[in-house]
Amino acid sequence: MNQRTVNKPAIEGGTPVRTEKIYYGHQYIDDADIQAVVEVLKSEALTCGPKIKELEDKLCRITGAKYAVVCSNGTAALHIAALAAGVGEGDEVITTPITFAASANCALYCGATPVFADIEPETYNIDPEKVEAAITQRTRAVVAVDYTGQSVALNPLKQICRKHGLTLIEDGAHVIGTKYEGKANGSIADMTTFSFHPVKTVTGGEGGAVLTNDEVLYRKLLLYRSHGITRDTSLMEHEPDGAWYYEQVDLGYNYRITDIQAALIISQLDKLDMFSKRRKEIVARYNEGFGKLEMLFVQKEIPESDTTRHLYILRIVPEKLRIDRRQFFDALAAENVCCNVHYIPTYYFPYYEKLGYRRGLCPNAEKLYEEMISLPLYYAMTDEDVESVIEAVTKIAIYYGK
Ligand SMILES: *Cc1c(COP(=O)(O)O)cnc(C)c1O
Repeated sequence: MNQRTVNKPAIEGGTPVRTEKIYYGHQYIDDADIQAVVEVLKSEALTCGPKIKELEDKLCRITGAKYAVVCSNGTAALHIAALAAGVGEGDEVITTPITFAASANCALYCGATPVFADIEPETYNIDPEKVEAAITQRTRAVVAVDYTGQSVALNPLKQICRKHGLTLIEDGAHVIGTKYEGKANGSIADMTTFSFHPVKTVTGGEGGAVLTNDEVLYRKLLLYRSHGITRDTSLMEHEPDGAWYYEQVDLGYNYRITDIQAALIISQLDKLDMFSKRRKEIVARYNEGFGKLEMLFVQKEIPESDTTRHLYILRIVPEKLRIDRRQFFDALAAENVCCNVHYIPTYYFPYYEKLGYRRGLCPNAEKLYEEMISLPLYYAMTDEDVESVIEAVTKIAIYYGK
């Protein structure tokens, strides 16, 4: 094909590939989900009820982790994980800039300094060698993000963390459903956090969790989730005054999740295999469609990760195109394919600039940011949706190809 045989892009006055707009992510809620929520609404406990433990047990079964602490959202999960890791004033926490801001903000919440390590140029995950190079006397933890749902290189990261006495926190907001070397992510790092925001693979409206195999970390996570308050007499400093007695033994937060949300997440988890299978099918179709085009680069997969993709990243090859990412993005929007960009490097934000961070820190991350677009990827996409996205991308890539 060449430019003459391709239809004109809608942005130049041609007919759009789709008549209806499609967006990059969307939840899938069925009757079972609705029923599960209604049952809680008709029950006694809207919060602190039986659904909390039920969800925690289910997350442990699915991931193989020993302990799970569910909480109000993925950001709260990162905050209590950082606190449980002992992150505090003067410490440094190493993370990637290609993530949602919460991965670094959790260090700031604790009075610590985020340190950004660059990504690998083809998998887009944090580069273990860059992590090791960034370690100082003050480093306390590493927050490694399974970007797009592909597992980070957990074995090398675990080794580095063990060698330097650091806690490995896996920000697994994208990773539910993925396995690393045959084991579900969630049972491998010191702590793994999940998010149940509606764009993620499994949703509760809002919701989060921290998974761990370590009982000491587990006890701390429970305290930080709920004000630092305990009813466990073995943790108390004073004799109980009576049956009502509890103690605040540390400074925690109200990061609890409701039973209403927990019930929805439990019901959604019943569909995880189905969600995962469909996401894998769509990714395979996209890879097949885009792999043929020299104007596009397909994200590299590491063999250790059996990936349930949360995001599909379309990456343009600027040398092969007459348009840049922004023009490609706008051309897709004109075809009614409404995409997004995940993510703006965290240290580009004004808040981080005011803290003294400057552009140029992580060249691979900055280059990826210039070249990427998140395409629609969610369970409820039809085959026609998938094909129309491929058609729109192909049309634009070929029309504007060099
Ligand atoms: C969504 C997300 C979070 C935050 O989760 P919330 O539940 O929205 O608080 C953190 N890290 C990453 C990588 C995310 O994608």
